Amino acid sequence: MALMAPEQFEESLKEIEPRVFMNGKRVENILENRNTRTVVEANKASYSWALDPRYRDIMTCYSPLIDDVVNRYTYVSASIEDLVRKAEAGTFTAEMLGTCIYRCVGYDAFHSLAGTTWEMDKDLGTEYYPRFMEYLKMVQTEDLSVAGALTEPRGARSKKTLDWEDPYLSLKIVDKNKDGIVVRGAKINISGAYASHELVVLPQAAHFKGEEDYAVAFATPVDAEGITFVCQYSPYSAERDLAEDLEELGNPVYGQRETSMVVFDNVFIPWKRVFHCGEYAYSVKLVTRFARTHRMTCGGTCKVGFMNQIIGASRLIQEYKGLEKAAHINDQLAEMVALRETGRACGLAAAHKGAEDPPGSGVFLPDELMGNVSKLNICNAFWRVMALAGDVGGGLIVTLPSLKELKNPEVKDYVEEFYSFGSDEPTENILKVHKLLQNWTAGQHGVGTWHGAGPVMAQKIMLQRIVGYEHEKELVRRTLNLKEKSP
Ligand SMILES: Cc1cc2nc3c(=O)[nH]c(=O)nc-3n(C[C@H](O)[C@H](O)[C@H](O)COP(=O)(O)OP(=O)(O)OC[C@H]3O[C@@H](n4cnc5c(N)ncnc54)[C@H](O)[C@@H]3O)c2cc1C
Repeated sequence: MALMAPEQFEESLKEIEPRVFMNGKRVENILENRNTRTVVEANKASYSWALDPRYRDIMTCYSPLIDDVVNRYTYVSASIEDLVRKAEAGTFTAEMLGTCIYRCVGYDAFHSLAGTTWEMDKDLGTEYYPRFMEYLKMVQTEDLSVAGALTEPRGARSKKTLDWEDPYLSLKIVDKNKDGIVVRGAKINISGAYASHELVVLPQAAHFKGEEDYAVAFATPVDAEGITFVCQYSPYSAERDLAEDLEELGNPVYGQRETSMVVFDNVFIPWKRVFHCGEYAYSVKLVTRFARTHRMTCGGTCKVGFMNQIIGASRLIQEYKGLEKAAHINDQLAEMVALRETGRACGLAAAHKGAEDPPGSGVFLPDELMGNVSKLNICNAFWRVMALAGDVGGGLIVTLPSLKELKNPEVKDYVEEFYSFGSDEPTENILKVHKLLQNWTAGQHGVGTWHGAGPVMAQKIMLQRIVGYEHEKELVRRTLNLKEKSP
């Protein structure tokens, strides 16, 4: 069976040496650094669930490509049923982790690469599809974790790519030879990449003739020569660095969402790992197929899982405070549930209304309209859920003291007494649940949810492209029996 045990995953990370920097220093060991460790733990969990009989159905599937059972996060959907399972897996992993499942961007990029390489070969006579399939076989057989990178620093948005003074603000091919290509540039905000084995890269800035050097997609090991990770560093990172006890934190094991900039300083990519090179007309297809898949994931699946964490904490606090009968709080919880279910419904609808795209490729993608709507809805719904949780949780969400006070002989009794809400719940539990809500409502998740998979305008632009309004106009014409326009 092509499934790695979680311990094997951890061992496999010891064999790679990504060049990682955080808070002004080199991270010598991503397994030991407290912040990078959270990504290791999150990815590791996805290996243990795949082997756990309770979660095997959701986390694994049969892959005809290697005639074996594989981790779902290495699989390309080949039916509506696969897409539905994909959506369910997104919610499951997100609610279990309470943070990103860092393998989802790579998983979604696989969907885009499989269909678009197939289409390029059919239209242009290239040989990208078998190359990509060989790569995917290796990923599945070795059960590798793969991160995905699309977003780039970019130059002035008002200018075309070729007019930027610094041509490397988008990742660019700088050399091609018989063995492969050399790329220079960067990808930014990349989730959890340094604790993955591989990184798949999609183009972002190639749209027009002349931009062929920006039309590039490939896969690379994360420790290839020339790759550097510059990690995010937030107050939450500092808190984790400094905490005496990780139990103090809102999500002790899996942490906040960790991203980094990935710099490609003249990185060599052998041809067998290049899946798109110069065919600029297909760059947009790679991006939109990825976006369509990833927006279902980000909008209609993982945020549903996140909301479950927020709703659970809000309900516990309601009970600690003896507010079970407070009508407005029950109403707020019901609103949270309705927003969550709207998100879930959109994600599942995108999966159920998915289709083979491109036709004949064998690759199934979520419905484009519903995929985009999933993400668009959740951008606002998530802020609303955070606001409602903030009301239920009260000021303590942002004013709570350190858990260390519970061990401080000078104030311990005060904290025990005055933060107990008169309930028989251990005060430590009450503080921890508030800390979890602090992690959600006063942390990085609002902006992260808004921008991950693209900000609202990106979805609105897609909607405007997809919806022609002909059906709607025709309905009105029929209803009113409108006269034909005179010729
Ligand atoms: C937590 C997190 C995890 C992420 N993980 C990944 C990952 O794993 N892989 C990956 O590839 N990306 C990842 N991203 C990146 C994410 O997809 C981008 O943040 C998102 O697409 C927005 O891009 P940006 O951050 O450059 O914002 P911007 O594009 O700068 O957006 C800021 C504002 O500018 C507007 N704007 C931008 N361009 C234009 C324009 N041309 N004309 C008019 N208005 C414009 C936007 O609509 C928005 O209002 C992640 C982001 C976050 C926050």
